[in-house]
Amino acid sequence: MEKSVRELTEVAKNFINERDWRQFQTSKDIAEDISVEANELLELFLWKDGKEMDRKTMEDKELLQKIKNETADVLFGCLAISDHLNFDLEEAFLSKMKQLEKRYDKEQVKGKSVKIDEKEWLEKQQGKTEF
Ligand SMILES: [Mg+2]
Repeated sequence: MEKSVRELTEVAKNFINERDWRQFQTSKDIAEDISVEANELLELFLWKDGKEMDRKTMEDKELLQKIKNETADVLFGCLAISDHLNFDLEEAFLSKMKQLEKRYDKEQVKGKSVKIDEKEWLEKQQGKTEF
């Protein structure tokens, strides 16, 4: 039952087309949907302790199912927007991961909780390549 990202995109595309919902969707609508679904996922954790939630999800199958459902909703939106804008989500993901591997050099950040601002990092990179 293993499916590629492209095959999953087809599943999402067929779901939309079979319901004739494309007429109601713009990329903005789908982006909003992704945000709403991500917040539905976040709501499951609202006002709860993170470590306690990690423990609870191992015991509470109902909670884990809710998390799985909301995560799948987010993925549906990601697949739908890639189809709508006709870009290869797998390629976009792998390209982003390559950038993250450079931005968060494993030797420099290993074991450290760090946030490297993307805009600042890109500006630094551009500065490096210009000289
Ligand atoms: Mg949902």
